[in-house]
Amino acid sequence: MPENACVFCKIVSGEIPSQKFWEDGNFIAILDIRPNMKGQSLLIPKRHTESKFSDQSDEDLARIMSAAKKVAIILEKRLGAKRVLLVFEGLDVNHLHAKLFPYYEHGTGITRLGPPANIEELEAVKKLLTKQ
Ligand SMILES: [Zn+2]
Repeated sequence: MPENACVFCKIVSGEIPSQKFWEDGNFIAILDIRPNMKGQSLLIPKRHTESKFSDQSDEDLARIMSAAKKVAIILEKRLGAKRVLLVFEGLDVNHLHAKLFPYYEHGTGITRLGPPANIEELEAVKKLLTKQ
C-alpha cells in the first residue's frame, strides 16, 4: 500500500483526526475508535513501515516496545488498569502498530483460554515446531 493511501499515515499527519494522547519523536498513541474496553489504544510509528511484526528489525522492535511500556504506564496510572496487554496483529491496516488493551479485572482480558486441548494434537504441533 502506498504511504499516501495509508490511514495511519493520515492520522500521523493530522489529515484524519484522532484521539491522540501521547507522542514522542517516533510514535503516537491514540485511542482505538472501536474499543472493547476503556482506554484500548494503538501505538503507531510516525514513519510508515509494513505491519508484519516478524519483518521488523530488532532495533525497531526495541524502540516500539520501549514506547509501548511508556503508554502502558499512562493507561495503568490514569485509568486504573492493573496491567496492559499488548498485541501486534496489523491485519486491517498495513502500517506497523501495537494494540494496547488495558486489563481491569479477571475475565476481562482479550487472551481468554480455549477448551482443554487434545494432547495428541498438542504433540503434533510441537513436533512441527521442533522438527530439525
Ligand atoms: Zn502508513
